[in-house]
Amino acid sequence: MKRLEGKTALVTGAARGIGLEIAAAFAAEGASVAIADLSPEEAAAAAKDITAKTGSKAIGLGLDVSKEADCERAVQETAAAFGKVDILVNNAGVTKDNLVLRMKEADFDLVMDVNLKGAFLMAKAAAKLMLKARTGRIINISSVVGQTGQAGQANYSASKAGLIGLTKSLAREFAPRQVLVNAVAPGFIRTRMTEGLKDEARAKISEMIPLGRMGEPGEVAKAALFLAGEESAYITGQVLAVNGGLYM
Ligand code: NAP
Repeated sequence: MKRLEGKTALVTGAARGIGLEIAAAFAAEGASVAIADLSPEEAAAAAKDITAKTGSKAIGLGLDVSKEADCERAVQETAAAFGKVDILVNNAGVTKDNLVLRMKEADFDLVMDVNLKGAFLMAKAAAKLMLKARTGRIINISSVVGQTGQAGQANYSASKAGLIGLTKSLAREFAPRQVLVNAVAPGFIRTRMTEGLKDEARAKISEMIPLGRMGEPGEVAKAALFLAGEESAYITGQVLAVNGGLYM
């Protein structure tokens, strides 16, 4: 029996990168998946690809996670397609890096709106169904820089640290209804978000990482799969670091 047979999952920011790997890993374990992303066309294409590769049902949805109406619609459309929403992965995220004195207020607000408020809005929309069903999993994709801070990323690291506080608060609030809420905190993972790094910066980062290399999106997906499945039934309010030992 596959690990997520009969389950349904909604993954945001899932048209590419870590989100796509998470959705594909869930589908490979039998889950029906909703791929939600800014571009409905890219979300639909990713969904088609996942169904072709895994045989599991997948739909693509367009949404901007910083808009409450979009979040509610995405949850409703997922429930309409699959009958329920068992697992929510808040993965959509953006960076707008700069040193604080050069960082524009709009760039601070955008990163907070997508990375932190977006997770709150999605959790709120999905929790309406999960609390009623008395079961559910919410997985927030935070970051190592939410744990350590990072020069040039005050907005991003604040949003990712905020996600950890949100995770723990939701975990406490939803625990009486058996809705488990955890975070994954990836280190440096090879996706579009990090592909702009110069070779020199990449080499320096790898030197700082005890395991000596950047991580792969599939390695983050395995942690999300663990937190979505039965193996983690007694785990809530935790942060699972997937960072090669970069922060311990
Ligand atoms: P990515 O390749 O840039 O993918 C992010 C996805 O989120 C994109 O498809 C993007 O859509 C979508 N998105 C952006 N804004 C959105 C919005 N308002 N509503 C809905 N979707 C939106 O990034 P990634 O590296 O896979 O990152 C995934 C998550 O992991 C993020 O939360 C990131 O902060 C976190 N993370 C990444 C790393 C890393 O090293 N890569 C490390 C730690 C944590 P568009 O393509 O249309 O913009």
